[in-house]
Amino acid sequence: MAINKTDNGARLANAILFPVVGLVLLAVAFSVALIAYTSRSADDAAMESERRLLRGSTQLQLELLAKEQEGAAVWDLADYYTRPVSVSTQWLDANMGHWLYANHGHDQIVIVGQDGNPIYNALRGQQIDPGESRPLLSGIWPLIARTRAKFITRFRSLPSGLFVIERPLNGFTRSIHETGFALHEGELAFVSVTAISPELKQFVAKRRPPAVLVSVKKLQGARLSALGTRSGVNGLNATPGTDQPKETATFDVRSPLGMPIGYLTWTANTPGSKILSGVGPVLLFLAVTIAGLTGVVLFYTRQNTRRLAESEARAQHAALHDSLTGLANRDFFADRFREELAGWSAEKGLVGVIYIDLDHFKDINDTLGHAAGDEVIREAARRLRVLAPDEATLARISGDEFALLLPGYASRASIEHILRRIQDRFSVPMYISGTHLHVSLSVGAALAPDDSLSMGELLRKADIALYSAKGAGRGRWAFFDVSMEEHVRTRENLAHALRDAIGQDRLHVVYQPQTTIDGATTLSVEALLRWTDPKMGPVSPSVFVPIAEEIGLINELGLYVLRKACEDAAAWPHLGIAVNVSPSQFRHPRFIDDLRDTLETCKFEPTRLEIEVTETVFADNDSNILSTLKQVQEMGVRVALDDFGTGYSSLSYLRRFPFDTLKIDRSFIADLEVAPHAHSILSTIIDLGDALGMKVVAEGIETRQQAAILQRTNCDRLQGFYLSRPVSPQDVPAAEARLAAGKEPLAAISLSA
Ligand code: C2E
Ligand code: MG
Ligand code: MG
Repeated sequence: MAINKTDNGARLANAILFPVVGLVLLAVAFSVALIAYTSRSADDAAMESERRLLRGSTQLQLELLAKEQEGAAVWDLADYYTRPVSVSTQWLDANMGHWLYANHGHDQIVIVGQDGNPIYNALRGQQIDPGESRPLLSGIWPLIARTRAKFITRFRSLPSGLFVIERPLNGFTRSIHETGFALHEGELAFVSVTAISPELKQFVAKRRPPAVLVSVKKLQGARLSALGTRSGVNGLNATPGTDQPKETATFDVRSPLGMPIGYLTWTANTPGSKILSGVGPVLLFLAVTIAGLTGVVLFYTRQNTRRLAESEARAQHAALHDSLTGLANRDFFADRFREELAGWSAEKGLVGVIYIDLDHFKDINDTLGHAAGDEVIREAARRLRVLAPDEATLARISGDEFALLLPGYASRASIEHILRRIQDRFSVPMYISGTHLHVSLSVGAALAPDDSLSMGELLRKADIALYSAKGAGRGRWAFFDVSMEEHVRTRENLAHALRDAIGQDRLHVVYQPQTTIDGATTLSVEALLRWTDPKMGPVSPSVFVPIAEEIGLINELGLYVLRKACEDAAAWPHLGIAVNVSPSQFRHPRFIDDLRDTLETCKFEPTRLEIEVTETVFADNDSNILSTLKQVQEMGVRVALDDFGTGYSSLSYLRRFPFDTLKIDRSFIADLEVAPHAHSILSTIIDLGDALGMKVVAEGIETRQQAAILQRTNCDRLQGFYLSRPVSPQDVPAAEARLAAGKEPLAAISLSA
């Protein structure tokens, strides 16, 4: 049961925790992804803007190159010396090629004549064969073609048949040009092509293509870094070729023909990545912390849930089980019983409910202590558990009471069989606190459906049966019987009334004289308790004393009689007092102390007192009884064995304990006049007492005949209605006087008692 509970708890915890943990981890992962994406986007945007800046700067550089060309190309003389009729490479070299190299660092200058053929070529200021410029020219031919075409489209025809060329007015340059990139000596280079024209805004000319000035400026060294600085990018590089460079920040450069010829690459500014690398470790730390915390929370929550489930299971177990024995408790038993009865049908057979009570458990507790008492309960539980059939429910329902539910039995005999085995098992003594203890059981049983099908009724009837078993002498079992109920009812009413009587002080004590054998001298009086109930009238102590024993009032009652007797006896200092002490009062652990205290309080001479006990005090074969008897005698108090001859093996008690007095039960006296051997039996008992050195008292003398018979024996004292009925304390002196005066006391006294 406990394990299932724990599993359920863990399952519940998992059902709640795993989705929560999943969500937390998902949220963390999503946040990380979002941050990564944002930083990547920021990087991309930054790179795009750098690329735009670079493109703009490059364009500006190309325009500047065109502007540098303008000084040489838009010049009347240049126009003149490039015309086919007046071409002068010498002039061109001195005034254009050399000048542009020297002033502006143009790496290569090529002049293409109006007919489209190169007429001048200079490399780093050195004039070379114009034919060598062809590879360059073929790569940038679209620039040349577009420049020439643009130039031609600027011609406006005049009525004279001539043409006027119109320059762009608001441009950055006055020239007509085209720019682009080319490969020069294996490296990327700026190229500008400018139409060579006269300086005037308007001039009259023949409509013809222009000669063009081609300038090439390699993209390297200081030029390259200046471009980088102007563009605001770091680590700018110009890489010729068509292989995609490793860098991500690239700007692809195409030839005027649209062919890829190289790349500009630079170290991209990556603000996103920078932020990311700044916050990355923090993020990582946070993510790890969150994951760790989640793990810890998960672990502890699971642990706590498990612990909670376990303690719940334990609490549930504790709520239904008895902690001392581990057996089911009363509630659990009731639940099982209720279930059993609810599902009962004829074919299920008999259901037995058995109450089991340890005999005299209270005495074990009182004499050996509670630890031993607990050990007895545990041992009893162990024995019962072994004997209880599998389908039975065994429970401890109170201190020394167990209950057994036996479902599905065919007959009363099969239930009896189990009860017999239980009783047999308990005939073996228990070894507790170093001593062997005989612990017997009283068992009461009720059966469903015979006795009832209601749980409350069945339990009540099992209890009545248990009570009856105890009444019959303990160590027995009894099945419920209707006749028991009447008995119980009377007993309960009596118990109730007795409690009231004690509370309202309606009990009193009377005294019956014990005389010398001639009946003339009163030696002592026996205190006898009286109770007259307003409704029931006088109730005999033989009836109410056992009830007082059962309901735990006997000690109180016995002490009341003792005290009363000691007080009353102050008036007759020459008489002894006999007080009856019931077995449970006698076995009470405080008995000796209470006796001593009472004698001291009343300043009563112990030798005047005699206590009367019956053989039943020995019923448990308890060695403590003998030691208590001895303690009583050591105090100076005498001990009488009352009702001798009615009990078990009477003689053995006489041998085991030196009683001072033997009181022969009145049944022997009553037999005297009817039973043939009664006379000799009586003489034998009296002689036995004599031989053991005990005073012998014959009680229940009702007739002169009986008194006369006893006078011929060795009997020491007489007691009985013939001599005197029990009288109130005030009447004791009168009774004594009557006995002393009269030879025939019976008539007078018996009438008045
Ligand atoms: P017991 O100790 O044997 O007391 C003697 C009983 O015999 C008394 O009955 C007494 O009234 C009765 N009796 C005396 N002479 C005659 C007679 O000639 N003929 C007949 N038939 N009866 C006679 P009682 O008072 O009803 O007491 C019955 C028993 O109740 C007592 O027997 C005693 O065991 C018990 N008892 C009485 N008082 C007390 C008490 O204070 N404490 C305890 N523990 N037990 C008491
Ligand atoms: Mg007595
Ligand atoms: Mg007696």
